[in-house]
Amino acid sequence: MSAENPDLAIAQAATLEPIQDIADRAGIPAEALIPYGSYKAKVDIRKVPQGQGSSKLVLVSAMSPTPAGEGKSTTTVGLADAFTQKGKRTMVALREPALGPIMGIKGGATGGGYAQVVPMEDINLHFTGDFHAIQIANNTLAALVDNHIHQGNQVNIDPRRIQWKRVVDVNDRALRQTVIGLGGPAQGVPREDGFDIVVASEIMAILCLATDLADLSRRIGDIVVGFTYGREPVTVRDLKVEGAITMLLKDALMPNLVQTLGGTPALVHGGPFANIAHGCNSLTATRLALSLADITVTEAGFGSDLGAEKFLDIKARFGDVRPDAAVVVATVRALKMHGGIGKDDLAEENIDAALKGTENLARHVQNLRKFGIEPVIALNRFPTDTEAELDAVLEWAKEQGFRAALSEVWAKGGEGGLAVADEVLAAFEDGSEFHHLYDPEAGVEESLRTLAREIYGADDVVFSDKAPAALRTLKKNRWDKLPVCVAKTQYSFSDDPKALGAPTGHVLHVRDLVPRIGAGFVVALTGSIMTMPGLPKEPAALRMGVNEDGEAFGLF
Ligand code: ADP
Repeated sequence: MSAENPDLAIAQAATLEPIQDIADRAGIPAEALIPYGSYKAKVDIRKVPQGQGSSKLVLVSAMSPTPAGEGKSTTTVGLADAFTQKGKRTMVALREPALGPIMGIKGGATGGGYAQVVPMEDINLHFTGDFHAIQIANNTLAALVDNHIHQGNQVNIDPRRIQWKRVVDVNDRALRQTVIGLGGPAQGVPREDGFDIVVASEIMAILCLATDLADLSRRIGDIVVGFTYGREPVTVRDLKVEGAITMLLKDALMPNLVQTLGGTPALVHGGPFANIAHGCNSLTATRLALSLADITVTEAGFGSDLGAEKFLDIKARFGDVRPDAAVVVATVRALKMHGGIGKDDLAEENIDAALKGTENLARHVQNLRKFGIEPVIALNRFPTDTEAELDAVLEWAKEQGFRAALSEVWAKGGEGGLAVADEVLAAFEDGSEFHHLYDPEAGVEESLRTLAREIYGADDVVFSDKAPAALRTLKKNRWDKLPVCVAKTQYSFSDDPKALGAPTGHVLHVRDLVPRIGAGFVVALTGSIMTMPGLPKEPAALRMGVNEDGEAFGLF
């Protein structure tokens, strides 16, 4: 095994079970299975008898992360394998990795060590083509909007007020702001445009929230692509193309079945980012798992301030799903970072810094309590952690009255997750009194204020740049009573990525509010967060390639 790259080496060495056997074990009938090769399949949910199981749902979140991630996917997969080892009928529901960040910092997103979903290479690269379908659907709509204007602009779209952007699954900063239609009348109408990454597309959000094809089509019809010269909204339905866009997504709507290294059936489907979108895998996948298994383990991106909050306030609301327990993944290295240690020194023992950093973790636990859920802390053990550091953090958790256990799934697979699994089973016994944090009826401003104060530790919200005018548009069109999906840095509770720990006394800077009517929420852009990331100075791509046997290297 390559010491440099253990994740890929472990994944490539694994013996996988045929996907039909995995489906069989999950209770998915053969007629519902559409194999994509030997180890991946789409599941036609219309052909799966519903309600075989009544699954408990475990939501996995994390403390505010370091740039490399804290092992949320790793813990999610390992915890599911631990339940499988305990003889529970278990399923995992995860997001699909996005290629943009794979080439940048992340290098992959299928878990790690002995807690992975496989086939790892396929899932990380083009998988079953869902992201490509979403990209094409999004960009077909963009082309149809521009063509509509070029061909006479029957619905009177103001080219300066188009809010539908093109998307690509590449972290391409050069495409953030573009001008299109240059070159004379035959090339269309010139206008300012820009690209987002695929995972920020409203089509991605819609695919992840739609319950079936009819709902998908209705939501696509509701998308507001821009405004007329008279400032009236223009929808996809006005352009009469919701049928075509839905058609492009008909296969992408079906959840993808794969397996974990521990043989647990896994649904990997949909992938909005949690910092710039709602951050959860598809509702179709979660519901399928809930109907088949006794325990479903799912992950929402980043921390309790982002993916988990959005799971609980957006997905749970729309999809009528409720978690029975939650897990907050913590690492000694992230604790030390929040305790003031620079990223190059995280491997050195520093108990004081780790304990200082617990203020960040404690706030994530308290945030989840605000939803009526008592979470379990999973302390994800890294090879550089010392026993003294791990003991100190677990002791601290005990003193605080927090449920916590060591997770060693990266090194040991499911067996390393048994202690966390026991805590989660105990949390099931305690039960949860889940409720949403805010009532959208109070209005977008009030919802944002509640989130800022209760979850981010801020004093207030300031609406600047385009936000005041956007608020007026929301009110005029009666869109101001939708849930809010906050786009915010994942590194801090505040909108300043450098404010680590548990900042207080700050304000949340909202610079724009974008109606995503098809998805059913309003995106609030805060701080300097961007919907098209860039690549770092040394992108992970520099270490990637493929050998003569066609095997990838450099994914992790
Ligand atoms: P997240 O879901 O929080 O972004 P991942 O589960 O994708 O994090 O893990 C990020 C990276 O960290 C992966 O390369 C994974 O192998 C590695 N990793 C996770 N947990 C551990 C661990 N306990 N020890 C060593 N490496 C780990």
